[in-house]
Amino acid sequence: MMMPTMSAKDLSKIYRRGSEEVRALDGVSFEARSGEMAAVIGPSGSGKTTLLNIIGCLDNPTAGTLSVGGEEIFGGRKELSEKELTFIRRRIFGYVFQKFYLIPTLTVRENIMLPSAFYKSSAGAKSPDDVMKLLGIDKRAGHLPGELSGGEMQRVAIARALINSPKVILADEPTGSLDSRRTGEIKEILRELATQGMTVVMVTHNLELAKAADRVIELRDGKVV
Ligand code: ADP
Ligand code: MG
Repeated sequence: MMMPTMSAKDLSKIYRRGSEEVRALDGVSFEARSGEMAAVIGPSGSGKTTLLNIIGCLDNPTAGTLSVGGEEIFGGRKELSEKELTFIRRRIFGYVFQKFYLIPTLTVRENIMLPSAFYKSSAGAKSPDDVMKLLGIDKRAGHLPGELSGGEMQRVAIARALINSPKVILADEPTGSLDSRRTGEIKEILRELATQGMTVVMVTHNLELAKAADRVIELRDGKVV
């Protein structure tokens, strides 16, 4: 059996809004292995983004543990420093969001290269030409994001997520801004990344995308149902 790429146990997250407490996650356990595509589904406000952010070390849980690739990230014997977390984010994860978040004044190639500019060691960095070819956007290399369709913008964002050779791709509603044909294309791309050995975890409202996943975790009020 393969080692789980990531294992989360009993994750809870309590946000404070003034004197009010919001229990965004309430004892969620979750596992995903390399080569797997997992989908997180559930109604708005059920905790999907909170879970994805904690898995991706963009937010910390109030309680519970998270380990990725055998490394204890949260709830382990020792608390990681912000510097160690930053290193883990760059080395392990590629992030994809619904709204792409491309820099409008940079070309497609420059947007894709941006995360590698912050990576001191170039050991893990891929060539931008290789990732652009993989995503079928090599002909757009010199274009600005404003000159692209939504589907192309999301492919640029996925290429950017791949530039540092991540082990895990995290995608929060990656097709939320796309029509059904582009959604199908993004589905195929994410599937291919899993086939190449990455772990793909996506939050989605899209049934077609969720059906393509190897495992589905459904949340309601911060709990797995
Ligand atoms: P989803 O992605 O499923 O729509 P979220 O994870 O964004 O759900 O939110 C889960 C719950 O936590 C919601 O009730 C939301 O209002 C609350 N929440 C999310 N982020 C914060 C925050 N930074 N501060 C306070 N409450 C938050
Ligand atoms: Mg969300």
